[in-house]
Amino acid sequence: FLSGKTALITGSTSGIGLAYAKALAAEGANVVINGFGDADEIETERKDLAAKSGAQAIYINTDLTTAEGCEELMQGAFDKFGAVDILINNAGMQHVAPIEEFPVDKWNKIIALNLGSSFHTCRLAVPKMKEKGWGRIIMTASAHSLTASPFKAAYVSAKHGLAGLTKTLALELAQDNITVNCLSPGYVWTPLVEDQIPDTMKARGMTRDEVINEVLLEREPTKKFTQPDDLAALALFLCRDVADNITGANISADGGWTAQ
Ligand code: NAD
Repeated sequence: FLSGKTALITGSTSGIGLAYAKALAAEGANVVINGFGDADEIETERKDLAAKSGAQAIYINTDLTTAEGCEELMQGAFDKFGAVDILINNAGMQHVAPIEEFPVDKWNKIIALNLGSSFHTCRLAVPKMKEKGWGRIIMTASAHSLTASPFKAAYVSAKHGLAGLTKTLALELAQDNITVNCLSPGYVWTPLVEDQIPDTMKARGMTRDEVINEVLLEREPTKKFTQPDDLAALALFLCRDVADNITGANISADGGWTAQ
């Protein structure tokens, strides 16, 4: 149902972003992927996406911690496809440290990537969405856009900011047939999360199940991970016509974490 549309997903060389790209391509959208990683692996993913969509898939490698990097990404998409109809702001990073030790450069980078890049991609994408009279903007926020954990000052601040940006743009664009929403997962089953398990088992002398239930999913009553494909399905739903009156929402997929 997305043929003729172009989707750009930031941070889509792995994890959740790649799941969005696959889901959107499977519905026939052109996709623009972005992020870091092994060049050969990314090229394999890109070819696979194009094969899935029957449309086109391009990769633009820019660093989204700078305004210039964001501009280069959006310009590359416009040069190829003319506009971005579906913008998914997903790129993000984390750093865990107490406030008095929090490295200033990590604070600046996390705020720039997890929040600033969405400001830049949106300000550049919106004029063309307005021209076309249709648009969908989706942010991967986090349970940490609604609640906090200690030692994650930059991440929690940026994700709360992203939730605020979502609401603001939803209001600004309410009459333009452009919806703006964020998805807020708890822990998502990605390689990054899976890779933490062996070290945590060793460090805490715990079994795999104990690490999963008592450490990773401590705050999630369902004791279940959200899957990247679950988020991709939500994003697809938001792109459908039936979702055209859902805007400014912060949709939780956190196993009840923020219900507590
Ligand atoms: P990931 O590390 O697998 O993916 C992050 C993506 O961002 C990668 O493609 C990476 O190359 C890219 N990226 C990193 N720095 C970049 C930069 N400077 N410029 C451009 N791209 C850059 O992580 P993920 O778990 O898939 O996370 C995706 C989003 O989901 C993030 O915003 C994260 O905060 C959010 N999230 C993840 C979880 C989780 O449990 N995994 C939970 C809640 C929210």
